[in-house]
Amino acid sequence: MITSSDLVRQHIQEMPPYQPIYPLDVLSEELGLRADQLVKLDANENPYGPIPEVQAALADLDSIHIYPDPESRQIRRLLAKHHQVPEDSIVIGAGADELIDLIMRVVLDPGDTLLNCPPTFSMYAFDGALNQAQVVNIPRKSDFSLDIPALIEASQKYQPKALFLANPNNPDGGILSPGDFEKLIELPGLLVVDEAYIQFSRNDASYLSRVEQHPNLIVLQTFSKWAGLAGLRIGYGVFPRNLVPMLMKAKQPYNVSSAAEAAAVITMRNLQQAQTRIDRIIAQREYLFQELAALPNLHPYPSRANFILCQVKDGSASQIKDQLRKQGILIRYFNKPGLSDHIRFSIGTEAQNNQLLAALKGLNYENSAN
Ligand SMILES: *Cc1c(COP(=O)(O)O)cnc(C)c1O
Repeated sequence: MITSSDLVRQHIQEMPPYQPIYPLDVLSEELGLRADQLVKLDANENPYGPIPEVQAALADLDSIHIYPDPESRQIRRLLAKHHQVPEDSIVIGAGADELIDLIMRVVLDPGDTLLNCPPTFSMYAFDGALNQAQVVNIPRKSDFSLDIPALIEASQKYQPKALFLANPNNPDGGILSPGDFEKLIELPGLLVVDEAYIQFSRNDASYLSRVEQHPNLIVLQTFSKWAGLAGLRIGYGVFPRNLVPMLMKAKQPYNVSSAAEAAAVITMRNLQQAQTRIDRIIAQREYLFQELAALPNLHPYPSRANFILCQVKDGSASQIKDQLRKQGILIRYFNKPGLSDHIRFSIGTEAQNNQLLAALKGLNYENSAN
């Protein structure tokens, strides 16, 4: 007897199960708190949400019975102008996540190698597995910097199709240094630099302007974090121009909804307002860092993103996560090599950050009282 699961492709049967992510209403019911009482600091979302003009633009959408523009021309034009790159070097996706998968679907044959540098964003390994890549991990050092000699060696040994790097890296918030970039861009294969958080980095840590000079460089960015549009799903990549027609023919034709494009367009037209929110988040990051550094039990890492990773020096990181959760404060804990004694906080509003700090101080007090 063949059961329906026998029909499933072997590599999908073997993938680890889906890790559920809970929406606000589900969390609210589980914790017995109103959704607006939850302090959601677990997914690096923008605590201020989008600029108010986005709501108005969504309310005014008039052609939702018509399929969206498969080439997302309006937002590509605005992004091209803003970043000073050709329009035909840009591809829009339903989030940067879609583009990570799309790049892999376009370049990988089953068994091809990808290089990955954990601890990092989990989608590179996830999409690699989904696309039947051989994912070769070159772990970061204990300070989360890259192991460049090991990457160069692996590149020679495996001839990888691509290396995916987040800049700043998630979960630690460190940037890809210019020295490392110059060495890695010389390697064969694609270098995909995922800049989901670059707008929080200041001092222009982006490699986007380098794409035109390098036939193997891709830079991804997204409206999810800085623009507060995570729920609408829109991100973009700047690519070597000869790759763009390949990506365009392989993507789903209507991958970006009209609502997502309209929200991104209005955000690009009101950048100063969005920048005010970014500036507030950066100021709060610096404040939260100082306060966390003063807590005896935590070691925060300097971050150029909208989150701060902390090593828990004494006690259990997963217990801290559970205790904060009971108070409605959601933070990120990773049960992974190199991270099991770490927790990550997204930068919230001033009130949320103070609530987090008060809760952390309460935990420390309990520990020392015991
Ligand atoms: C959040 C995140 C993304 C996802 O971006 P979307 O545009 O929402 O798909 C991509 N890369 C990194 C490193 C992230 O942390």
